[in-house]
Amino acid sequence: METIDASVGFAGGKPCYNIPKDQEAIQRLLSKIPASQGGCMGKVWKPALWGACAQDLAEAIRKFQEANRAKLAFPPDGHVDPGGSTLALLNALASGTSPSASPSATGLTQSALALKNIPLGISWCQAAINALQTYAMAFATGSEDADSVVAKALNVHFHLDQISDRSKSAGRMDSILANFKEIKNTLMNTSLAFRDCSTSEAAAIFGSRDASWVPPPAFVWRSKGNKWILFTTSFQEWSSATPNGYGPNARTAMVVHESAHYIDGSILDYAYEWTNASVGTNQADPTNACVPGSEPQCLYYAALPAEQALNNAACYPTFAAHVVRKFDSPSTRYGAANKTL
Ligand SMILES: [Zn+2]
Repeated sequence: METIDASVGFAGGKPCYNIPKDQEAIQRLLSKIPASQGGCMGKVWKPALWGACAQDLAEAIRKFQEANRAKLAFPPDGHVDPGGSTLALLNALASGTSPSASPSATGLTQSALALKNIPLGISWCQAAINALQTYAMAFATGSEDADSVVAKALNVHFHLDQISDRSKSAGRMDSILANFKEIKNTLMNTSLAFRDCSTSEAAAIFGSRDASWVPPPAFVWRSKGNKWILFTTSFQEWSSATPNGYGPNARTAMVVHESAHYIDGSILDYAYEWTNASVGTNQADPTNACVPGSEPQCLYYAALPAEQALNNAACYPTFAAHVVRKFDSPSTRYGAANKTL
């Protein structure tokens, strides 16, 4: 059962409070309800912005209310209130049809499911390593191809074009290469790193007491000289019946991303691969999105300084996938924001 703190949607043509976590709760509920009941089962939502309700969510709320007009206390009004009849009906219909959150449909534990993504993760890292080594060799003799995929990927993800000094550029490539080698080693020794994590364990680690709290699919936890990559019950295979899960490329990107955190505690989440000029990562509170320009600590992927890109976990799977696919498009990057890929 989901609860919200403030209203979501539009009231009388004006946006409601639209707290991102409340919008996400309504999105989760709508995604569990089939279209035949006015929901949008399996829908992949755009990230929620503070105070702004995206058009697809606003339309989905209105469509849900129209489809369930007879069951609601009021005519459709385009928003969901805390404790209101729309929220009650969303919860009732979602619980009637929702697949259980865990364990995954295949019966594997979460860390065992993650192991299925390791061969792909290793092959991405190896492709990145090969491309970087070849490019660095050519770069050392001044014969590099600036139009090659790897040259472009180095600029897009690690912003090598911000560094004008060639010896510094060479050093930066060495650092990126060294990180990829360590990430690959982590993936080849997963018995050391991977562990399952129950929702109650995760809640204790994150200090959440909210019963409806949903843990992140995976995270790195350091404690008393140990470190692990923990996989929670949110780490599941995507299917139309488990729309809260993730497709194989999204899961592989997560595994590579977490391995980047794992190898070096200074590799952080400066900006996720899906952030752009209209929505970024809030450095003061990374769990909340923010609007770049709204506050100095709001960062987005394409505008990271090169130094932060080197230490940004999302740059590693995204660079590797760019090299492997030979193209990069922000809207099809692999990760948690593109669940079905
Ligand atoms: Zn991260």
